[in-house]
Amino acid sequence: MRYLILSDIHANLEALEKCLEVAQGKYEAAVCLGDIVGYGPDPNAVIDLVRQTVDTVIRGNHDKACCGITDAEDFNPMALAATFWTRKALTPEHAHFLRQLPAGPLFLASFEMVHGSIENEDEYVIGPPEAIPALQNQTAPVVLFGHTHYQGGFALNNDGAFQSIPARVGKDGHVFPLQDGTRYLINPGSVGQPRDHDWRAAFAIFDDRDRQMEFFRTPYDLPTTQKKMMQAALPEPLIRRLEVGR
Ligand code: ZN
Repeated sequence: MRYLILSDIHANLEALEKCLEVAQGKYEAAVCLGDIVGYGPDPNAVIDLVRQTVDTVIRGNHDKACCGITDAEDFNPMALAATFWTRKALTPEHAHFLRQLPAGPLFLASFEMVHGSIENEDEYVIGPPEAIPALQNQTAPVVLFGHTHYQGGFALNNDGAFQSIPARVGKDGHVFPLQDGTRYLINPGSVGQPRDHDWRAAFAIFDDRDRQMEFFRTPYDLPTTQKKMMQAALPEPLIRRLEVGR
């Protein structure tokens, strides 16, 4: 089966629509690793589209903060401002949808889904110090994670050899074959707010029969997203960061 892997959409409707368009016909089921909302200008429309198109969703830290499960006290001032804006913008029905989202880890047939890590849904798995112990402890061969907004990931084989998975991709996607006997931690990248110095929307498609991960980047209508953010008076640096992918 081929799975569309989405993460960190962050209320960016134009980016989500474009990813779904590019991925159309390439998958049979879709999953989302959390952070549907927060930062971006379209929380209600993005939740509607996720409910229509994504089969399995787990919550992220912004989803929790925006529906009041957490108070977001660890957020920086800009993230906090966007959280308060989102709380006001969400309809009661959409806030309820966020509140009932399951926490990771969640097992699907051939992989495990987490927002941050298996140990802690809010942990950032950025490099080897976090990734190596996580890989050593995971039982599923493939764990999919988000939260860092970096496309790529990490691998550990049975001999203990560690590898960072490159995700620098060109226009046409990048196929990464998975080996038997190796454990993988893979991040599809962020749909709506990439931070890996590439502004284009990121996603991945996992084919669990052919055992391969395909990484995608796609340009989207960023000026429209930025205009909506300006009209919503969201913090200026959050608007600017989208064009540099940081
Ligand atoms: Zn996020």
